[in-house]
Amino acid sequence: MTKLNEILQQWKDDPAFMSNITRWEVVPTTEGCFCNFPDYLEPQLCEALQRRGIEKLYSHQAAAIDAVRQGNHTVVVTPTSSGKTLCYNLPVVSAIIKEPSSRALYLFPTKALSQDQVAELRELTAGLDTTLNCHTYDGDTESGLRQGIRRSGHIVVTNPDMLHSAILPHHTKWVHLFQNLKFIVIDEMHQYRGVFGSHVANVIRRLKRICAFYGSNPTFILCSATIANPGELAGLLIEEPLQVITENGAPQAEKHFILYNPPLINLELGLRRSALLEAQRIATELIRKGVQTILFTRSRLGVEVLLTYLRQSIKTRPGEESTIRGYRGGYLPRERRAIEEGLRKGTIKGVVSTNALELGIDIGALDACVMTGYPGSIASTWQQAGRSGRRRGVSLAMLVANSEPLNQYIVSNPDYFFGRTPERALADPNNLIILTNHVRCAAFELPFDQNECFGRTEIIAILQFLAEEDVLYLSDGRYHWMEDTYPAEKISLRSATRENIVIVDISEAHPRVIGEVDRFSAPMLVHEEAIYIHGGQQFQVEKLDFNEKKAYVRQVEVNYFTDANLSVDLKVLDIFEDESGGVTRACGDVRINALVSMFKKIRFNTHENIGSGPVDLPETEMHTTAFWISFTAAVLGGMTPVAVQSGLIGLANLVPQVASLFLMGDPRDLRAVSQVKAPFTEMPTLFLYDNFPGGVGYSQEIYRIYRDVFQAARRVITDCRCADGCPSCIGPIYQNGESGKLPAMQLLEVILR
Ligand SMILES: [Zn+2]
Repeated sequence: MTKLNEILQQWKDDPAFMSNITRWEVVPTTEGCFCNFPDYLEPQLCEALQRRGIEKLYSHQAAAIDAVRQGNHTVVVTPTSSGKTLCYNLPVVSAIIKEPSSRALYLFPTKALSQDQVAELRELTAGLDTTLNCHTYDGDTESGLRQGIRRSGHIVVTNPDMLHSAILPHHTKWVHLFQNLKFIVIDEMHQYRGVFGSHVANVIRRLKRICAFYGSNPTFILCSATIANPGELAGLLIEEPLQVITENGAPQAEKHFILYNPPLINLELGLRRSALLEAQRIATELIRKGVQTILFTRSRLGVEVLLTYLRQSIKTRPGEESTIRGYRGGYLPRERRAIEEGLRKGTIKGVVSTNALELGIDIGALDACVMTGYPGSIASTWQQAGRSGRRRGVSLAMLVANSEPLNQYIVSNPDYFFGRTPERALADPNNLIILTNHVRCAAFELPFDQNECFGRTEIIAILQFLAEEDVLYLSDGRYHWMEDTYPAEKISLRSATRENIVIVDISEAHPRVIGEVDRFSAPMLVHEEAIYIHGGQQFQVEKLDFNEKKAYVRQVEVNYFTDANLSVDLKVLDIFEDESGGVTRACGDVRINALVSMFKKIRFNTHENIGSGPVDLPETEMHTTAFWISFTAAVLGGMTPVAVQSGLIGLANLVPQVASLFLMGDPRDLRAVSQVKAPFTEMPTLFLYDNFPGGVGYSQEIYRIYRDVFQAARRVITDCRCADGCPSCIGPIYQNGESGKLPAMQLLEVILR
């Protein structure tokens, strides 16, 4: 019996432990499905694979290579550690051996993944007769190397941001690459959703436009974690028909997947024992017994805290180096490489990581994975869980829930988690602001013909608008760039607008940037005197400079947090779709005006109001899309106005959170406003709106799947054992008055009737 088996048995025999388990799922061993190397694969490449101990391919690898060989754009959807990199490396390397002038461009969402990929490519191609040049090209690439990479790099590995701001605008320096580009590889495709995905789809439109200009027509190969709509997302991104491969041929050994809900310590408030401490206790037990373990936590600070606790509980002899390490962004590359190697070799027994290790960085396979809090999406959870599990022998993945509604929903509804994934990754490449920004970038790169489409979208109105703004001029039926600046530099792919407020910590001699908030949230979160919490540390805002787009903060330790009174005025501008009745649902365009006029200081734990102050900031305005639902007096029956109000407030707290279950977004991407008598509907109304100018499609999706969303909300409330509402369901009591839980439930019954 292995050490891990022994521990699993002990847990099974321990009633106290088992009472916290909401599901113990055993994923059985699967044999895997193998294929011989196809005849057309270059013999020297087959030999290189054999030297690395690979005698056969998994069926999905063979299917992908075959699809690409037939010239099909292909998307491969398989779990972590299923050898997906060979799905693209084999066709690409094989094509370059056959025709050494061929070129490939690889896109990864992060720099670390790009470096890892180049290392892997170099290993694969080391013994080949043909020399292959593989390079990363990003902000870290030395300027002396850049010219050589542009001219003779067979495979250029970069990220979308670099493609957008450095490669496409300077395409004339990359003639060789674009003329001979045969393949574009997009890994971790599921990351390209929401605002980021909407941007990346437009960057790909620009990329295809440039390829067409230089006469190349590359094949796209995409890889994704499991989501509900891989074909749809890939289609949005590349706007081409494609082949979707989802059958996984990789073998898998037995895996125990455990959902763990820490015990309640305060029933009234719904408080549970800390997920962090529970996870630490479990990991300590595993590591002590020699089970190599990875612990995931959501924040950088969480990494440091857990690491400290673990090292305290697992002492090493004086002079001996600890076998437990932290891993997160902000560590030096050399340090990270050493940790990765230690994990592969087994000299490191435990590692605490942010989601930095969730993505495909090669650390070998560990015995156990413990997740502190729900990683935010089912796809991420499976990716993190995939970090444990070897070819042979049992492995463990364990999710330790915290008390937030999303976490509680997942552990209380294991069938939802283990069933077919409902998560659809959404993006809206035609968001007007994002689209217009990329039309500017594209016009800088190459002039537009008067009637040219951008991707598959007609943009004549945008071209005319930009000409009126003196950004473009029309000559001989073509629109030319006329400003002297170049546009890509000022457009970030990670936000919808250029208007983020940067948070600067001035506690020490050298000010440092610790984060940013979007302009619309700034008055709420970083008004003067606000307590801004970042990675568990409190900061007080000293100055918010709206013009400079900076908030200056200083570290403090106080016993309260601040809560700004936000009054949101929401005006419906246009209805896309609606369905009326006793309960009316609709989605459409709205204008949001938000004004923060004062804030309260709320004491921790007791939630007493211990002071307040004015906020003197201008109103912010945003046009976006919203979903709304309203109720006639008749369907509400005998509910009092006060009950309706507190029910709506409760739903406004809860619904955006559970909606993120279905949208693969961050709960902050969606906001809610409730109005007891909305000017537009003249009825009690709950609005949910996309928290980005122009929207990215969330509201329309909620309109479609509203029953799923509200049913999930109802389940959270039913499952929560608090009396009147708590942070695990409809929000803390101090926001809702005495009794928000019952009216929220009554409204849900009306909606779902
Ligand atoms: Zn509750």
